[in-house]
Amino acid sequence: MGGWVEIGDRVFVRRYAFFDQNIGIVLGDGETLVIDTRSTYVQAREILADLRELTASPVTVVVDTHGHFDHVFGNRVFRPATIWGHEGCVTFMERTGEARRPRIAREEPTLAADLPEVVIDPPDRTFAETAHVEVGGRRVELRHLGRGHTDHDIVIGVPGTGVLFAGDLLENGVVPFFGDGYPLDWPETAYRLAELVRTVVVPGHGEHADRAFADEQAAAIWGLAALARRVGSGELALDDALLETPFPAYPPETIRRPLQRALAQLRGEIR
Ligand SMILES: [Zn+2]
Repeated sequence: MGGWVEIGDRVFVRRYAFFDQNIGIVLGDGETLVIDTRSTYVQAREILADLRELTASPVTVVVDTHGHFDHVFGNRVFRPATIWGHEGCVTFMERTGEARRPRIAREEPTLAADLPEVVIDPPDRTFAETAHVEVGGRRVELRHLGRGHTDHDIVIGVPGTGVLFAGDLLENGVVPFFGDGYPLDWPETAYRLAELVRTVVVPGHGEHADRAFADEQAAAIWGLAALARRVGSGELALDDALLETPFPAYPPETIRRPLQRALAQLRGEIR
């Protein structure tokens, strides 16, 4: 889908058609950092092949925004690179990686033949709140802003460029995925994220965007939590709540499961 786009000084993004996913690149002197590794070795090797358009330098650092399979199942292909992620990313991958593999193969038949070879290879460098990594003389900042799309999402900033990689805390062109989310915590996390956006924000999926997009999506995520509270208090029936969707660009039905997840969190069923 259009090749590499330089969104800041030697910072690139490429949109892959599968899941309309963004992969980020930071080029340092003689070293390369990759943000997220896609769903299979085949897909990860496609990143490496495409990288040859930008640099001959090896990938020495990988950053996993979070542990969903489409962001981490390609990790192994980048070894011996160091792989960074939130400490919760390791726990999540150990808990869900093998357990979900058969379901992923069922739900995404185009991946089925390529999934068996995947060795689930979690980050070996972890942190809880903030960390910074060096790649070829450049500093890259990692931050965990709180629970949201998962309990371990991180954002990646590249000082001096105004670029922020948001992982799936933001998604452009779809309603964000709430299946492993914390809908009552996500608004605060999304607002904190929006405050960090300077020039360009790269969502996990869909076109890269700006501060206004981040503000708008944070407000919609807040709206979902607010709507769930009204359902939870008995003020509004779930079916009626759908019609007040804070994501009006999409069919009301698309927020049914996000609302159900929020209701489960309200009832204390999620941790
Ligand atoms: Zn995700």
